[in-house]
Amino acid sequence: MAYIEPAPIIDKENPFESMMSRFNTAAELLGLDNETYEILKNPVKQVIVNLHITMDNGKKQVFEGYRVIHSDTLGPAKGGIRFAMDVSIDEVKALAAWMTWKCAVVDIPYGGAKGAIKCDPTKMSKGELERLVRAYTQAMYDVFGPDKDIPAPDMGTGPQEMAWLMDEYSKMNGRTVQGVVTGKPLVLGGSLGRTEATGRGVMITALEAMLKLKMNPAHSSCAVQGFGNVGSHAAMFMAERGLKVKAISDVTGAYWNDKGFDIAEVIKYRDSHNKTLDGFKGGDLITNEELLTAPVDVLLPCAKEDVITVHNADKIQAKLIVEGANGPTSYKADDIINSKGIVVVPDILANAGGVTVSYFEWVQNRMGYKWEADRVNRRSDRIMKQAFENVYNTAKKYNVPMRIAAYIVAIAKVADTYKLRGGF
Ligand code: NAD
Repeated sequence: MAYIEPAPIIDKENPFESMMSRFNTAAELLGLDNETYEILKNPVKQVIVNLHITMDNGKKQVFEGYRVIHSDTLGPAKGGIRFAMDVSIDEVKALAAWMTWKCAVVDIPYGGAKGAIKCDPTKMSKGELERLVRAYTQAMYDVFGPDKDIPAPDMGTGPQEMAWLMDEYSKMNGRTVQGVVTGKPLVLGGSLGRTEATGRGVMITALEAMLKLKMNPAHSSCAVQGFGNVGSHAAMFMAERGLKVKAISDVTGAYWNDKGFDIAEVIKYRDSHNKTLDGFKGGDLITNEELLTAPVDVLLPCAKEDVITVHNADKIQAKLIVEGANGPTSYKADDIINSKGIVVVPDILANAGGVTVSYFEWVQNRMGYKWEADRVNRRSDRIMKQAFENVYNTAKKYNVPMRIAAYIVAIAKVADTYKLRGGF
């Protein structure tokens, strides 16, 4: 029986409040006028639909679906679709705004969006899920489009759901439209390098930060929380670059090995053990709380939101935190982290490698061409390095932490573009 660690004490924050707290600080430093503040704060479009799906038992069930376009100023909106029981329109609004800032930070020509359906995909059959995705696509037909709004996977959805979405949209259009969605299977126009892109971007920004902090990767150690898509790839890339990955974890527990883990071995273990690290013998069992405060140089929270809080921030020993997950640091913990002199590469920069390669997928679809993995990696590395440098220099210029600097870069870009485009 899997050992499930008791949930840590967390300050579960309202994601909108958390995003707005940083947004407000950055807007004030930028001297953003009230008019533009109101425009950037509010989403341009919110759509709520009720989808009537015939379940396998022959009965109809109603599912609530959402799509929020926060901004389409920089280009078509971009953002994932989440399947979860606890989603709300407020959460989708916050996540959509997050996408606007993320795309702006890495300077890709997209606005921000997010979608969701209130459902539990683990309790639905493949047929039920397919009908749900097709119904959602039909309901959002006027919202989606390769030049309007381009969805992608998020929690509870993956390449199969994106394939159904692409197929339904294409059928309604009377032609194949690959560029309407990203995160598709490779054979349907997915991009090489997308699976590992977020973890790779985490590594690139971590190494850039280490260079600034004069930390030598060969003499440094790191701890990685979460061993899913982002965490396992980030751990693998960090180890490849010479860091000792001394702590790893997933929802079943955390592990410590002072000599550093052989990440390829750990991945093999996870893949042959129902995708979890449960029962892993290659290190000492510790807790996820202990992992966060372990004696390492770099901490990579790559699991979930709100794990670094006012309850544990003062115990963190790492000099550098690189946020692979979205929102792993509660905004109330920001001050503690900053006062300890810990450098944080914030989520909207650190994990933007994923959306960057999603952008490349869309570009390839529109070209009707496929890039080699090498080209994808070279170009995404370049974008991540440029974005890091830009945020780092902005942090120096305004004398603020990189998190606020990332918001300053993003807000300034969207505000300037908005003014250039003009309005009523
Ligand atoms: P995933 O589902 O593949 O992996 C999540 C991992 O975290 C799993 O190993 C899970 O066991 C572990 N986990 C869950 N709860 C935990 C807990 N309480 N303590 C420790 N570990 C826990 O998800 P992912 O795609 O790797 O995403 C992880 C985070 O990164 C999320 O915040 C996600 O929003 C963010 N993110 C992902 C991408 C992407 O491309 N996949 C891009 C940007 C941001």
